[in-house]
Amino acid sequence: MRALRRFTVRAQLPPALAPLQSLATNLRWSWHPPTQDLFAALDPDAWERAGHDPVRLLGEIPTERFEALAQDADTVVTVRELADDLAAYLEGPRWYQSEREDDDSLPAAVGYFSMEFGVSEVLPNYSGGLGVLAGDHLKAASDLGVPLVAVGLLYRSGYFRQSLSLDGWQLEHYPALDPQGLPLQLLSAADGTPVLVAIAMPGGRTLHARVWQAAVGRVPLLLLDSDIEENEPDLRGVTDRLYGGDQDQRIRQEILVGVGGVRAVRAFCDATGHPQPAVFHTNEGHAGFLGLERIRELQDAHGLSFDESLAAVRAGTVFTTHTPVPAGIDRFPVDMVRHYFGAGDPARALLPGVPMDRVLALGAEENPAMFNMAHMGLRLAQRANGVSQLHGAVSRGMFGGLWEGFDADEVPIGSVTNGVHGATWEAREVTALIGTPDAPAASVTDAELWDLRTALRSRLVAEVRRRVRKAWLERGASLPELGWTEHVFDENVLTVGFARRVPTYKRLTLMLRDKDRLRDLLLDPHRPVQLVVAGKSHPADDGGKALIQEIVRFADDPAVRHRITFLPDYDMSMARYLYWGCDVWLNNPLRPLEACGTSGMKSALNGGLNLSIRDGWWDEFYDGRNGWAIPTADGISDPTRRDDLEANALYELLATQVGPAFYDRTDGVPPRWVELVRHTLTTLRPQVQAARMVQEYTETLYHPAARAAAGIVADSFGPARELAAYRQRLGDAWNRVQVVGVDASGLPDTPVVGAPMTVRAVVELAGLDPSDVVVEAVVGPVDETDQLDARKRTAAMKHVGAADGAGERFEAVVPLPHAGLTGYTVRVLPAHPLLASPAELGKVVLAG
Ligand SMILES: *Cc1c(COP(=O)(O)O)cnc(C)c1O
Repeated sequence: MRALRRFTVRAQLPPALAPLQSLATNLRWSWHPPTQDLFAALDPDAWERAGHDPVRLLGEIPTERFEALAQDADTVVTVRELADDLAAYLEGPRWYQSEREDDDSLPAAVGYFSMEFGVSEVLPNYSGGLGVLAGDHLKAASDLGVPLVAVGLLYRSGYFRQSLSLDGWQLEHYPALDPQGLPLQLLSAADGTPVLVAIAMPGGRTLHARVWQAAVGRVPLLLLDSDIEENEPDLRGVTDRLYGGDQDQRIRQEILVGVGGVRAVRAFCDATGHPQPAVFHTNEGHAGFLGLERIRELQDAHGLSFDESLAAVRAGTVFTTHTPVPAGIDRFPVDMVRHYFGAGDPARALLPGVPMDRVLALGAEENPAMFNMAHMGLRLAQRANGVSQLHGAVSRGMFGGLWEGFDADEVPIGSVTNGVHGATWEAREVTALIGTPDAPAASVTDAELWDLRTALRSRLVAEVRRRVRKAWLERGASLPELGWTEHVFDENVLTVGFARRVPTYKRLTLMLRDKDRLRDLLLDPHRPVQLVVAGKSHPADDGGKALIQEIVRFADDPAVRHRITFLPDYDMSMARYLYWGCDVWLNNPLRPLEACGTSGMKSALNGGLNLSIRDGWWDEFYDGRNGWAIPTADGISDPTRRDDLEANALYELLATQVGPAFYDRTDGVPPRWVELVRHTLTTLRPQVQAARMVQEYTETLYHPAARAAAGIVADSFGPARELAAYRQRLGDAWNRVQVVGVDASGLPDTPVVGAPMTVRAVVELAGLDPSDVVVEAVVGPVDETDQLDARKRTAAMKHVGAADGAGERFEAVVPLPHAGLTGYTVRVLPAHPLLASPAELGKVVLAG
């Protein structure tokens, strides 16, 4: 008989074991091996049945077993010790607290918004890299004591689970999640009633959401959930799936996470006494509406104008772009935005008092019919970044149109290279052998390192066999036909992993470019390679599914199926085995479309060697001794030829470099390989840590944003008013500002490097004060078309009085910076102490 509905009833624990409840619900267990060991020891069979999910485990253990455990002194003591350890972790001062002791301008709290969070497989609320990165960010912030409050949505079915049809086509299923069975707690107000966030929808309707709280160590994660009785049926479905619905569904989700997210944070802080965020960090454009809600709040609470509120909001907002792929950027028809914001009718407004035309202007892009969430994100944030150095540069080019008149290198988008959470992704055997990055083990022999790698590879081989068998049973095979699966993969064969989502740019099938060549590599009698492949295609992407099918068909061939396999349902629980056990982590994106990539970092934590196109993080971290760079055929515009060249380079590297390094042995140990592993573990492992990333965010973005935000709201928003008035004044005058004349009489007689050149200019300021602008001399190497390149130097020119006719005179002495063909010009930029960079407002007047 099939039940109509299902729900989870939580266990009643004997008092001596009561702390198990918080040990199970705080997700810190997921990166704390001693707590995992405790759960496993409570009831090893139940632990397996529960899929290593502590909340489920507590429901699986029979009451009698709990009674027995409560009588067992060792168990009771371990439970108490671990509960004390957790309490100390949650309450004690950490890195951030000691930093803040010295400098209280560090933010009291930071709001971290993302559409997905991959904290642990027991809370499957992510689709891929963006979510897992967000999870790692929260965990590292928790370890460091950085006071984040994270905000996202709780999806009824999360992302889909993947299986394969008999002929290798991706099938999707969406198991429903029961929040009661997840490590979540409903957010209630101080009076005990559940918090309900309410948002105006078109047609006079209201979208309600309750708020679930997950505890990621010290970091609260708030997840909004629309599946409640207060909502009409179609609105209940707003949070049903991640990246599942149409544009309408999507904009409703983004309104919920942005506008509703801010309201949830307010309610959370009110209910718990947690400090309100001074800084809001939005990841991708998805949650960008949060800036508009904060503008509404300031207008309502302090009577500020839109522009004054905008100035205050921008100061405390950080925007991170995570993709250089234009298709990865959310855009909505302008009419849809108008519709949801109330089409200008004050009685129906989503955000009363926030002018419609100003909202639309924030999302404006080249196509006047479209509203661009990334553009809005950049316009609502005073600070922005990409996620690797290369991606920062690519983003400066991609979004350069928002800063017209500036060269790409001047576009104010920086970069913080992603990192990964060591305690989550590193096998505990690695940590045991070589210590933590800040306390490395004294000395480890080559044989020990090699034994470690062999042990991790063997564990992967066992997992591959288990999963291959399971996948074939799902595809319709029967057990007696599956004897061969006991012999797939070999623990002594060089193991290469390739696992990631399957958008076109990641080129899942590049390895199949020359199938005979690949077959030769797999079946080489002396130096065979085995290849494990995994990844999900977006449900609407049939092209991606066809790529998966191509791999599956190749791997189904009895001649190679012991050496290559496609494992369905890539997720965190599978990924872990791959990162631990693969000798080589393969990545061959179409450069420069991989923003950062983090899976290769997780492999490196475990001594895996990267074999990758120099894209994303690998472009800056490859050093010639920590893996291999697949040469890219950048600039070759024919995609087929480019794929051929790059695939060829990949086969060549595998056959001539990777294979020999792995198989050439001295006393059973491959010296060259171990040297590469050792170098990776000593140099790369410390650099790819999420802790490094979160510290960089704190120091270069959160802290300056908090200072700017505190400054701008001081004196009853005096500076916000002043900055808004300044922008107004600037806007009124700007198109009449011009450089009237430049006088180069100050060129030295013999122009040698270092010789002083005097540049004089007359500038028409159209009513602006000389202190409202900075006039700059720009000097540097030029090409034949007089373009100054990135080596140019700028020098602020001094105001030296009024000119004879109209205008103001400015002057600077600049030492000639370079030998060779040199050029110079003069430009006028806005200048105000509350601007983070002179390019910030996208305004510049060039001479000539
Ligand atoms: C790390 C990770 C990703 C992201 O990997 P990329 O290299 O960025 O593609 C995706 N999915 C899972 C499960 C991960 O652990």
